[in-house]
Amino acid sequence: MNLKTQNSTKKTVLITGAAGFLGSHLSDRFIKEGYHVIAMDNLITGDLKNIEHLKDNPNFEFINHDVSKHITIDGKLDYILHFASPASPIDYLKIPIQTLKVGSLGTHNLLGLARAKNARMLIASTSEVYGDPKVHPQTEEYWGNVNPIGPRGVYDEAKRFQEAITMAYHRYHGVETRIVRIFNTYGPRMRLNDGRVLPAFIGQALRGEDLTVFGKGNQTRSFCYVDDLIEGIYRLLLSDYAEPVNIGNPDEITILQFAEEIIKLTGTKQKIIFKELPVDDPMQRQPNIDKARSILGWEPKVNRAEGLKITYDYFKSLTAEDLYKVDHKNFNDYIKK
Ligand code: UDP
Repeated sequence: MNLKTQNSTKKTVLITGAAGFLGSHLSDRFIKEGYHVIAMDNLITGDLKNIEHLKDNPNFEFINHDVSKHITIDGKLDYILHFASPASPIDYLKIPIQTLKVGSLGTHNLLGLARAKNARMLIASTSEVYGDPKVHPQTEEYWGNVNPIGPRGVYDEAKRFQEAITMAYHRYHGVETRIVRIFNTYGPRMRLNDGRVLPAFIGQALRGEDLTVFGKGNQTRSFCYVDDLIEGIYRLLLSDYAEPVNIGNPDEITILQFAEEIIKLTGTKQKIIFKELPVDDPMQRQPNIDKARSILGWEPKVNRAEGLKITYDYFKSLTAEDLYKVDHKNFNDYIKK
């Protein structure tokens, strides 16, 4: 491993999934805060373009590695942030085994590394641990309603295992750990073709296609702008709170209303068409963020209109090649015409 010399005066953070959407924004934040960033990714869903601008920074290094396999890092490590994972329902269908492994074996490897290096580790958990929730809005105390053997089970159960093993390392080995439960987040550097609702709708508008609403569109989500999320994660890492904390924007909206907002934003003349609702699609999702407010003094600042405008400007700046690089085969299989 050919590492750049780590500056011993700087705190060192290992970020897994660093070439992905959230990982790349975290890399930016930690560089800005004066850390030495070791960015790790196997590029299965990540893209080097997301961290291209950091590559010549002396405080940034990239390692192409699959965290599901044993990890060796030379030198000291102060923090680990585990953000490697496929994160879209289409990804779970395409790469289910990798999804399971990165959340389980990957987390185990990283906890071992955290223990060996005496580093603090923060794991990216998810609102998916609540499954199709029967409690609304979702508080951290809610245990969830997850189908372990459904198509989303590979992600949900890996993340639930991830939380369990993280708490076990915390309780039995005294590793300092933090758990963030991330609700739907959006912003620049999302994959246009990952099938998630925001890139799907904006991509469809940009290509002049109809917007595909699944089911009747009365299911709800609550969308958080990426900068707000990163701020919450940063605060959680530096806090002394080891139990899970929801980070998300409680501003809840139905998917049909969301499609209408995207039509207005993009000015597309296309219409909304309805497709079959995917199996186990959660019907409602809204974070209760009382804990984040009281423990971290955090709440989201960017409203959806502002965040969507920035995100739309980003997607508009992509090339035609990016725009048409849609994995139509899997996408069409998924939405079952
Ligand atoms: N969705 C939709 N049309 C699409 C993609 C997604 O109506 O083209 C719906 C999906 O059924 C779900 C919501 O949008 O109810 C959010 O889906 P996403 O894949 O973004 O993530 P999830 O929150 O389900 O993990």
